[in-house]
Amino acid sequence: MMEQLDRRNPCDNLNHRRTQAPVRHCPACGRVVNERVGKQDCSDTQHATARRQHSVFCVDCGMRLISRG
Ligand SMILES: [Zn+2]
Ligand SMILES: [Zn+2]
Repeated sequence: MMEQLDRRNPCDNLNHRRTQAPVRHCPACGRVVNERVGKQDCSDTQHATARRQHSVFCVDCGMRLISRG
């Protein structure tokens, strides 16, 4: 049986549906999707790149990159 999607989490990013997500954090909600992926020490450059790709959260460290209104 597949685990049902957590209804309290409105995030529909497909990383949540993967059993082996390639990233530690979801770029849309910042929740950990794969604890096996180690936390990274990111540089400002990496965060700037992620921001340009419209990631709200960094997939490597989970830091919020874009603050909402
Ligand atoms: Zn998410
Ligand atoms: Zn980061």
